[in-house]
Amino acid sequence: MKNFDGFGLSPVLAKSLAYMKYTKPTPIQEQAIPLALEGHDIMGTAQTGTGKTAAFAIPLVEKLLNDPQGSALVLTPTRELGKQIIDIMHQLLGPKSAIKTAFIIGGESMGKQFNQLRAKPRLIVGTPGRINDHLERGSLKLNDTHLLVLDETDRMLDMGFTIQLERIFKYMPEKRQTLMFSATLPKNILKLSEKYLNDPKRVAVGETNVVAKNIKQDVIRIEQDKKYDELMSQLYDRKGSVIVFVKTKYNADRMAKNLRRDGFETEALHGDLRQNKRDRVMQGFRKQDFRVLIATDIAARGLDVPHIEHVINYDLPQVAEDFIHRMGRTARAGAEGSAVSFVSNQDGRKWHAIERLLNPNAAPTKFEKAPRPSGNKSRKQDGRQQNGRPTPKRRFNRSKKKAA
Ligand code: ADP
Ligand code: MG
Repeated sequence: MKNFDGFGLSPVLAKSLAYMKYTKPTPIQEQAIPLALEGHDIMGTAQTGTGKTAAFAIPLVEKLLNDPQGSALVLTPTRELGKQIIDIMHQLLGPKSAIKTAFIIGGESMGKQFNQLRAKPRLIVGTPGRINDHLERGSLKLNDTHLLVLDETDRMLDMGFTIQLERIFKYMPEKRQTLMFSATLPKNILKLSEKYLNDPKRVAVGETNVVAKNIKQDVIRIEQDKKYDELMSQLYDRKGSVIVFVKTKYNADRMAKNLRRDGFETEALHGDLRQNKRDRVMQGFRKQDFRVLIATDIAARGLDVPHIEHVINYDLPQVAEDFIHRMGRTARAGAEGSAVSFVSNQDGRKWHAIERLLNPNAAPTKFEKAPRPSGNKSRKQDGRQQNGRPTPKRRFNRSKKKAA
């Protein structure tokens, strides 16, 4: 298909798309939009940065425009992703739309949300916790919500969220259309999704569980206590916006502070910050007020900041899939990007899990045994020298070709 005309979209929507400079549907959009418009449930997968948002947002808006009744609910795992999606929805609806929206996330004032909900919104975007809060208070009704989207599906159907989702679904009509999208889809989640989908169409573009093609990946084997210096030299070497992933909220703050001391423009983003601080940090990063964002995995999924050129995995993610999502913060919509992962001797297990996910048939990288603390009597040394000298830093390029 050459452009969006073939979908027969409403003039309002066609105009919005032109305004957004979306001229040609991406492959996932091309396949998913007609099926969604026909009313099918969808399980959609495509790599990071390939336009999954519009693949569900366009049919959703089209359906709302055509149907004077009913509403749609979009659930996301993080507030920042929710914000991004509601912004796209507003762009698609165009200015002064008769279709009212509500943005329902935790950490924001209830008052503002009550007002939005009183206006009878037909499109609700939010995170599960606060949605449930409103459902239980009676300020949100979903008995006429026949359209449901779970973005980042595998994360949403993960253990942390399923209880919340089950509670939400009890308030929704049983007969509904459900659209699910993600770049990764573990087998157990695909199985679990069947419970929530009705005769779904499987739309899969490219391979799932792969890092987007246009990302140049490096891995640096490094000792834990050398990471910070290496980070600084990486930041000096790299131009353009960088996102650095760390494991803990505490480390995110501490690292941002240290990097500022060392002359870098940087801010931290994590779940312990107040929501208005989170908003300011995200906004500042989008506007390129500062170059380096230090984040926990709340920023791993879905965020679309086109100018991010580099991803640095300072710590490896806890969940292997998040490696793919973190990488996917760069090289979006066909752009180029590069990524580097720091892998220490303590990371053996996590790194093997990532290797297995990306390339199930490859032999795992060998890890040296981490030296045990001296003075430990139960230590059984296998004749290996323990001279306290740092392991030489090894760099190796892992191009996708080589790994495949
Ligand atoms: P995904 O959810 O697959 O990771 P997004 O939906 O966030 O990807 O889209 C990635 C980028 O591509 C965004 O900046 C978005 O504006 C852009 N984009 C999406 N669809 C189109 C299109 N049809 N034409 C041009 N740009 C698009
Ligand atoms: Mg997305």
